[in-house]
Amino acid sequence: TTVFISGATGFIAQETVKQLVQKGYKVIGSVRSAERGDRLKKNLGSDNFTYEIVEDIQKEGSFDEVLKKHPEVTIFLHTASPFHFKATDVENDLLKPAVEGTKNALKAIKEHGPNVKKVVITSSFAAIKKSSGDDDPNLVLTEESWNDITKEQAVKDPFSGYRASKAFAEKAAWEFLEKERPQFVLSTVNPTYVFGPQAFISEIKSELNTSSEVINSIVKAGPNDPLPPTSGFFVDVRDVAKAHLAAFEKKEAEGKRLLVSEGRFVPQQIVDYINKDFSQLKGKIPTGNPGQYPDFNALSKIDNSKTREILGFDFINLETTVKDTVQQILDAGFSR
Ligand code: NDP
Repeated sequence: TTVFISGATGFIAQETVKQLVQKGYKVIGSVRSAERGDRLKKNLGSDNFTYEIVEDIQKEGSFDEVLKKHPEVTIFLHTASPFHFKATDVENDLLKPAVEGTKNALKAIKEHGPNVKKVVITSSFAAIKKSSGDDDPNLVLTEESWNDITKEQAVKDPFSGYRASKAFAEKAAWEFLEKERPQFVLSTVNPTYVFGPQAFISEIKSELNTSSEVINSIVKAGPNDPLPPTSGFFVDVRDVAKAHLAAFEKKEAEGKRLLVSEGRFVPQQIVDYINKDFSQLKGKIPTGNPGQYPDFNALSKIDNSKTREILGFDFINLETTVKDTVQQILDAGFSR
């Protein structure tokens, strides 16, 4: 089986490629530069991984040539999409690459990938959760929930822009299926904040990808620095990658949105685990108010029991994901 994966050099994608290759799949990844493609190939050390360059996913027809060249592809995983809050132009930096990138992939598969039977799109919890309601204890978000953000709200700031980019892109994908009735089935993987180690230690830099930076910023912070403002739900990258494989391997996942999330977190918990598990960092990083967490029962909930049943494996817990993330940062020599 040959699997195509867009955005192969991303945080989630690298772990996914690693697991695919370990399981014996042939993998073709799209990357934006030969340099990064070569680095991934070297890290994987396997002839079962090759790459193709797709510089700009939002350009019409961006995936046509690679699919024409590789008729052996039967599975297509679309993970490439901008994930950062640095956009100055929400429309061009976030919405267009997310939405047009997704449409271009699906069009190319329909027209030039006759053997592709299954498509998996990396969507997000951002496509599920509305911006309000977090403090409503009666709100339960499931695989059926949708973020109904509008275009006007989307362009207000980069946070809204990112959340909208994921909601609009996923909506466009399901609409494509409805209208075009292509030869393939679709599943989406909708992760909450993704933590956990990089697939390869060589990927550790002073600044990591957006979600990993939540933990990295604590490791880099001084004892009197404030904790990062980010709280919400989390899941480990190894579980997110496993979910991408299950999304095409398991018949039960066809046509489904997989809401992958282990549970809630607040930065105080992360700080407490780091101080507990890494005595060498004690006194160098913030301590905050140890053990003082909000009442999670007073906040909105996720019920992803359907996803858990389809996947059939337990998710990695917060302490383990924090520990493995920080250990890798220290192993790479980024401790202070
Ligand atoms: P990364 O930033 O590491 O990966 C983003 C990927 O998308 C990279 O492969 C990147 O390519 C590619 N990409 C970004 N912008 C463009 C563009 N304009 N054109 C072509 N390729 C582009 O982050 P993640 O691995 O976390 O993100 C992967 C996917 O997972 C995204 O779809 C994201 O929305 C989704 N997601 C992530 C969550 C998280 O907490 N990490 C949570 C929920 C969803 P390059 O490597 O060349 O930069």
